[in-house]
Amino acid sequence: MSTLLARNADVLVTMDAARRELRGAGLYAVDGFVRQVGEDAELPATADVVLDLRGQIVLPGLVNTHHHLNQTLTRAFPAAQDAGLFDWLTAQYPAWTRIDAEASRTSTLVGLAELLLSGCTTAFDHTYLYKNGNSVDVQVEAAREIGARFHASRGSMSVGRSKGGLPPDEAVEDEAFILRDSERVIDRFHDPRPGAMTRIVLAPCAPFSVSADLLRESAALARARGIRLHTHLAETLDEERYTLEHFGVRPVEWMDRLGWVAGDVWFAHAVHVSDAEIGRFAEAGCGVAHCPSSNMRLASGIAPVRRYLAAGVKVGLAVDGSASNDSSNMLLEARQAMLLARLERGLRREGEPRPGDWMSARQALELATIRGARVLGRDDIGALEAGKCADFFSLDLGAIDYAGALHDPVAATVFCAPTRARFTVVQGRVVVADGRVVTLDMGPVIERHNRLAAALARG
Ligand SMILES: [Zn+2]
Repeated sequence: MSTLLARNADVLVTMDAARRELRGAGLYAVDGFVRQVGEDAELPATADVVLDLRGQIVLPGLVNTHHHLNQTLTRAFPAAQDAGLFDWLTAQYPAWTRIDAEASRTSTLVGLAELLLSGCTTAFDHTYLYKNGNSVDVQVEAAREIGARFHASRGSMSVGRSKGGLPPDEAVEDEAFILRDSERVIDRFHDPRPGAMTRIVLAPCAPFSVSADLLRESAALARARGIRLHTHLAETLDEERYTLEHFGVRPVEWMDRLGWVAGDVWFAHAVHVSDAEIGRFAEAGCGVAHCPSSNMRLASGIAPVRRYLAAGVKVGLAVDGSASNDSSNMLLEARQAMLLARLERGLRREGEPRPGDWMSARQALELATIRGARVLGRDDIGALEAGKCADFFSLDLGAIDYAGALHDPVAATVFCAPTRARFTVVQGRVVVADGRVVTLDMGPVIERHNRLAAALARG
């Protein structure tokens, strides 16, 4: 039995059903699960590992619902800096097609380290290019090494340019092989149990790079094995034009015909949707990964998050790939979500705001925690209460960024500039301490990452 005691936090945000925020509090965990959350006097006096969080605020570990960790190799890529989705993709496919196992491992470590340092403890990654020895295995092993809770996709692309798709032919794979490899990684890695550190998701890339058959067969395989499904949807008007031209229907209708608008599916972006499509999502119980920075970066549009929430659609938050963000900072993303929802309200000219009409800092934190957990199909993360995973992070309230904002430290974490986590704990294991990743030495990883990124850019 291993125990962990985190105590003396100035504030602890539980994100439990009552949304309690405790003062002078902490938590006690046994074998990776929270046993007790409460004021310091109520907690055990000691444990195997004791963290003194005086002067800090503790929040549940953030949940990132969509990423492409390998894209960390092409951040600020010159040919893709000022381009919308299709031109941005086309500019980078050649570099991404050259990513090998070493580049995948290294970029997975860099992206996950950045996430952990921003308070994110659970990440879903949507990789869909497996060439030169890159594989789900490489990424899962990297996540285990650094200590992040990881939902890996077996993503896919099968329709290349010669068949009317967007990606070059050398970037796509054979559909029979994709399905065989999907089964292999489910058998090898998927853990359905509470507290699972590794889960597998089947994730064909997008309507413009996979066939109807692959979408149908991926869904059948996922449902036979109890695996969740994910894809990009309604991200841009380019995509809407593509499905209208190729399939004669809008993106949501296309997915619905293929059995993909359902409770075991979540979509990245879902920006360009009608009120009827929002209603259909709510009725079906599918989820949305909201990616505000990426949507602004690529001029994709503004996802109707407030209308999703009002309709009862499950919404989580995501940084999206590092080539369209170009960071993996979940706390920054919570701030972006709050600001963008406010801008959207202003642009819709809805008139005088009613109480509750603004996305608050606390609502943004809900998207980044408990609501994201629901999108990933998990009820064991996203909140700090007895029985949940011991996933949390702390921020130093003495930082210059929060000076003058301590009337409301919880709101300050979103309103003020994001700061690095002081401690990050995943399943009871300390992975960030005093602002540094402690599970591996990141210096050589960053140096290797920069070398690999330069080689990809050279071609
Ligand atoms: Zn994406």
